[in-house]
Amino acid sequence: MKRDELSPHGGGARLRRIGSMTARCPACGRRTMIIEDYLYDAPLIGLLLISAGRCRSCGYRYSDIRAAESQGPRRLVFRAEGPGDLNVIVVKSASASIRIPELGVEVTPGPASQGFITTVEGILQRVGEVLETLCADPETNREECSRRLRELKECSEGRSSFTLIIDDPEGTSRIISSKVMKEKLYSPSMS
Ligand SMILES: [Zn+2]
Repeated sequence: MKRDELSPHGGGARLRRIGSMTARCPACGRRTMIIEDYLYDAPLIGLLLISAGRCRSCGYRYSDIRAAESQGPRRLVFRAEGPGDLNVIVVKSASASIRIPELGVEVTPGPASQGFITTVEGILQRVGEVLETLCADPETNREECSRRLRELKECSEGRSSFTLIIDDPEGTSRIISSKVMKEKLYSPSMS
């Protein structure tokens, strides 16, 4: 599976367009961003809400994916214990943060954050990109950096166990495995 790419296999009845709207483009600020929403009934995963947008002025593209049904503010905890666990599907919504305590890494959503669908392995690749950015900083301790990249490599080869924690105040993220543990998450008040 190509990373972060959803293949509806030609679509058909599984993919249904449910509406479109015009929004302000985060890149150029003009209200020329057309966002189309789709419902996709994904095998094993369930109903997904997919948004795809393009700005008619500057060409900026936006895409987002999340479970159609919210489970309320949730923490999902998944213990990856071998190569088979790396293929588990993950739906990470725009509002969710990702943490792997064993690697000392946390990826928090920014204002332009978008949801995506990937695998546990794909999450590790993203974490690797974050680590490499951190390591490019001359302030970063070189030894610490190579140690973490080595640990990440062991995790992505299924030789080390690790814990994937997804905190999602919207409750529209999913880890498609019977091993996933779900806890209620109390997000801070928005007021
Ligand atoms: Zn634009």
